[in-house]
Amino acid sequence: MATRVRYAPSPTGNQHIGGVRTALINYLFARATGGKFILRLEDTDRSRYGEEYVRNLYDTFAWLGFYWDEGPDIGGPAGPYIQSERFDLYRGYAKKLVEIDKAYYCFCDEERLERLRDEQNAAKSGDQGYDRHCRKLGVKEAQARTAEGKNPVIRLKIPLEGTTVFHDSLLGKIEWKNEDISPDPVLLKSDGFPTYHLANVVDDHLMKITHVMRAQEWIPSAPMHKIMYDAFGWTQPELCHLPMVLGSDGHKLSKRHGATAVNEFRKAGYLPEALINYIAHLGCSFEDGRDIFTLGEMEQLFKIERLNKAPAVFDYQKLEWYNGQYIRQKSDEELARLVMPFLAEAGFAAPGPALAEPGPLEIAAMPLVRERLKFLSDAPKIMAYLYHRPEMPGESEFVPKKLDRHGTIQMLEEAIALVASTDFSEIEAAEEKFRARATEIGVKLGDLMMPLRVAVTGSRVSPPLFESVRVLGAQECKARLQAAKAYLSALPA
Ligand code: GLU
Ligand code: ZN
Repeated sequence: MATRVRYAPSPTGNQHIGGVRTALINYLFARATGGKFILRLEDTDRSRYGEEYVRNLYDTFAWLGFYWDEGPDIGGPAGPYIQSERFDLYRGYAKKLVEIDKAYYCFCDEERLERLRDEQNAAKSGDQGYDRHCRKLGVKEAQARTAEGKNPVIRLKIPLEGTTVFHDSLLGKIEWKNEDISPDPVLLKSDGFPTYHLANVVDDHLMKITHVMRAQEWIPSAPMHKIMYDAFGWTQPELCHLPMVLGSDGHKLSKRHGATAVNEFRKAGYLPEALINYIAHLGCSFEDGRDIFTLGEMEQLFKIERLNKAPAVFDYQKLEWYNGQYIRQKSDEELARLVMPFLAEAGFAAPGPALAEPGPLEIAAMPLVRERLKFLSDAPKIMAYLYHRPEMPGESEFVPKKLDRHGTIQMLEEAIALVASTDFSEIEAAEEKFRARATEIGVKLGDLMMPLRVAVTGSRVSPPLFESVRVLGAQECKARLQAAKAYLSALPA
């Protein structure tokens, strides 16, 4: 039987690392087994629903670059794939469970439930959940009350004794005492809307989902769902609860550990490939002895047996390392294209329709900056001197250790002459020429170069100097050298 798996987010927040990890593992499993990966929006919680979260979902996956085979945006044979478009369907299933005595109508209003909670708290027995007050209500009684205009909820009958057993591909056999399962969860709300439990089970069944791979925090729902599958006489999909993702302090990954929303990583200048590669390794391995995998390779190599039971720790440094690796792999054109939005935001490249198009300057600059980029967002700072004249640094930045101001001005004069007469398309020959001149006038090459570097780039630490001169052009560099000379000459003695 072909496998069918799904990512079933609730659009109640932005896509974060945990959700994307779940989606990615489902996607890889579908590809590895020749099955289908489905996106289903579980928007039953209307109070926390946000249109912007749906947009964020689509944006995030468009950026990450891996897709579902069936989903709200592309359709498919098991649609609709948005639960709010399926609401009518769930009612019938809830009623069916009532008919076969696996569920019941409950007329307790919010007031009574609140009183119940207060009583439980006062008795120090804590919140024990619903007291099954309406469980014994006969069908006749329920019908009479409904006729009076009271809208009931429908609750699932959790067996009062015994255990519920289910199997998890990763964790093995899991047994729950029925008395530890939440007493009689609501399946259908009084307004006729389904809860997560009902919609999730009905949809997994109707969409012929074969494997449910989701975060471990959903384990407590599994016995409840098993009871529903049994009640309907359906087979529960194979379950696989994924290892937790923790922060470095051993607590569940959250904001306080740093960025967790995927669009924050995007803004911070991460490459989607780096994020995908790293996220896929959270609690999963692919092949020993290497770290870098293409998505295609992971699609081939993924196996449930290679998932870990132990929680994974999100390591921002390792992710940073991945990012550097992928930046180094990019061609000049690709990298220039990727840094364009960051340059544009810094005001260096003209915004507008041509935004994503790098020019010759950006492409020529990539070999200079590639090794220095940890994040795409580093580009504006490193490349600023290529777009405009740097602010004039202080005198001490210009003057090499062995020289004074006068000597430094002489070096700038030498550099002006050399820059005008050197062909910077041949870096080695250009270096040779500078070296020869330094020997001729009896100074160290470094002492000749440093004032030049500071005048051209604004700093003693910069991308490669001769390459920078080549990119900027002799004309512009000469102007910067002259400005530096004028500045130093005008300083009071
Ligand atoms: N809607 C649930 C969520 O937000 C889906 C849980 C499941 O996969 O069953 O994660
Ligand atoms: Zn009740």
